Amino acid sequence: MMTRLLLSAAMVLSLAACGQSAPSGDKATASSKPAKAESAVSLSPELQSLKEIAMNGSHGYDIVEGLTTEIGQRLAGTEAEARARDWTVAKFKEIGLQNVRVEEFTMPGWIRGEETASILAPFAQDMYITSLGGSVATPEGGVTAPIAYFKTFQDLENAPEGGLEGKIVFISGKMKKAPDGAGYGPANLKRQRGATEAGKRGALAVVIRSVGTDSHRFPHTGQMRYAKDVAPIPIGALSAPDADQLERLLERGQEIEMKLTLTPKAIGPVTSGNVIGEIVGTEKPEEIVVIGGHLDSWDLGTGAIDDGAGVGISAGAAQVILEAGLKPKRTIRVIAFGAEEVGLLGAFAYAEKHKDDLKNHVLATESDFGAEPPYEVQMGVKSGQDVIKAMAAAMNLPMSDAPTSGGPDIIPMANAGVPVMRFQQDGTDYFDLHHTPDDTLDKIDPEDIAINTWAFALMAWMASEADTDFRASAENAAAE
Ligand SMILES: [Zn+2]
Repeated sequence: MMTRLLLSAAMVLSLAACGQSAPSGDKATASSKPAKAESAVSLSPELQSLKEIAMNGSHGYDIVEGLTTEIGQRLAGTEAEARARDWTVAKFKEIGLQNVRVEEFTMPGWIRGEETASILAPFAQDMYITSLGGSVATPEGGVTAPIAYFKTFQDLENAPEGGLEGKIVFISGKMKKAPDGAGYGPANLKRQRGATEAGKRGALAVVIRSVGTDSHRFPHTGQMRYAKDVAPIPIGALSAPDADQLERLLERGQEIEMKLTLTPKAIGPVTSGNVIGEIVGTEKPEEIVVIGGHLDSWDLGTGAIDDGAGVGISAGAAQVILEAGLKPKRTIRVIAFGAEEVGLLGAFAYAEKHKDDLKNHVLATESDFGAEPPYEVQMGVKSGQDVIKAMAAAMNLPMSDAPTSGGPDIIPMANAGVPVMRFQQDGTDYFDLHHTPDDTLDKIDPEDIAINTWAFALMAWMASEADTDFRASAENAAAE
């Protein structure tokens, strides 16, 4: 990745030095990324100003630096997430947002405990494991049992009911790397449903290969689910090298005995909340453009790429608009959603609380895919496609035909009819770090997050100024 970044930066510099703009879409160039922040079209004075302020500044970076340094991990529903809300309220006020507030909601709490896994026989050794979010604990003293191995989640699903009594189930299956993270959904099935499928068949516990694309010895956590009608069993994720090791042990054909101890616990109803700040519109203050990220993180890292970056990008973008002295016609609302990781709880709470007002939400997007620059633009609008295309052109990005929900926390709004768009960020390396202790600030390139901040500033500004409401309104239908 570093080579790619260096080549890309060098390419832009060398081209800039001779007064050319970088070629776009040239597969022969060293990088698949768009030329950094180059615009293929001439920008309006307002956009030129936003671009210069964003690209010469460090608005997004400074926010994620502050959040990850002064708060660190921010597990949903914990005292740390509450401190993160206080921090964000203060930050939103400091950068000049209006109507800064917290919209609280209640959620089921869960905290991590002890987590160890050891092979007892035939080749005794310890492994790196982490509990999945929401998992129940192993019984007092842990569970010791032979391993039942399933190469993939589908193999487990296809196995007959019963037959796994007295076993610890191991589900492997590797995740494929892709810029848009397409490998995540399939790989995630074992994380979300592994405990249910193994539990149905009588297993004592489950260990999975981490849902990730790295080869480091960090296990990846993430939320799991229990079905209502199946007794819950504990589930943890092994790091990729430990899953490899366990596979090699299994290939040797002897019974493998594992001791697993996981002591997470449910802590009952706790409080989370969404932090909201606005630049109130001058002409249509009731019409809202939403930009956001999620404030909670998993507890292993400091939540830099997931999703301090998104909070920094969206709040940083609003800060850039304020610094440019621009006065948007519509209201630009920045939302730092709470409790995303454990099931989009803040997103659902927001959509429910604002359900009567969602018709006034004009366009929404979220950054929740790290801090790498975008490489294409996706839209889910019924009118105003030309405005979204102009946003893409201003960033020198191609449009994509891929459908979008606007980002995880935008899904409930999108389902209720709110128009959405998304700058699809390059997530090729995102799942190397995702939900691990390695999700830390050093993984964020300040120039990359500045590009995203500029993108969000231009999106918010152009959406606030556009004549369209991005909906298939009666007027729009009549005009077409
Ligand atoms: Zn996230």
